Amino acid sequence: MEECESGLHKHCESCFRRFCSKHPDDCPIIHCSLHCGIRFHSCKADEHKLLCSKEKVPCINAGNGCPLEMPRYALAKHLGKCPASVVHCTMEWNRWP
Ligand SMILES: [Zn+2]
Ligand SMILES: [Zn+2]
Ligand SMILES: [Zn+2]
Ligand SMILES: [Zn+2]
Ligand SMILES: [Zn+2]
Repeated sequence: MEECESGLHKHCESCFRRFCSKHPDDCPIIHCSLHCGIRFHSCKADEHKLLCSKEKVPCINAGNGCPLEMPRYALAKHLGKCPASVVHCTMEWNRWP
């Protein structure tokens, strides 16, 4: 089966069906190994990693000194109390001495 530049099978690139008769045999449809509940064509595993809600990612404040890593779905919650977060509410700034 032909692969295109992105590493995906040409067919899979535009096919998001779970069951497809034209699907290449060497590309099983798999569950996400992190159990996020998503199924995808195995050649799209790398692509899914970038989107997977359970994939561990560093805090976006890593550059400001936050050492934490967490699943992507937990990031929003963490940002509210991240010690390295530079996004302070202006109202709070005004209350500081
Ligand atoms: Zn496919
Ligand atoms: Zn297909
Ligand atoms: Zn494929
Ligand atoms: Zn996933
Ligand atoms: Zn953080």
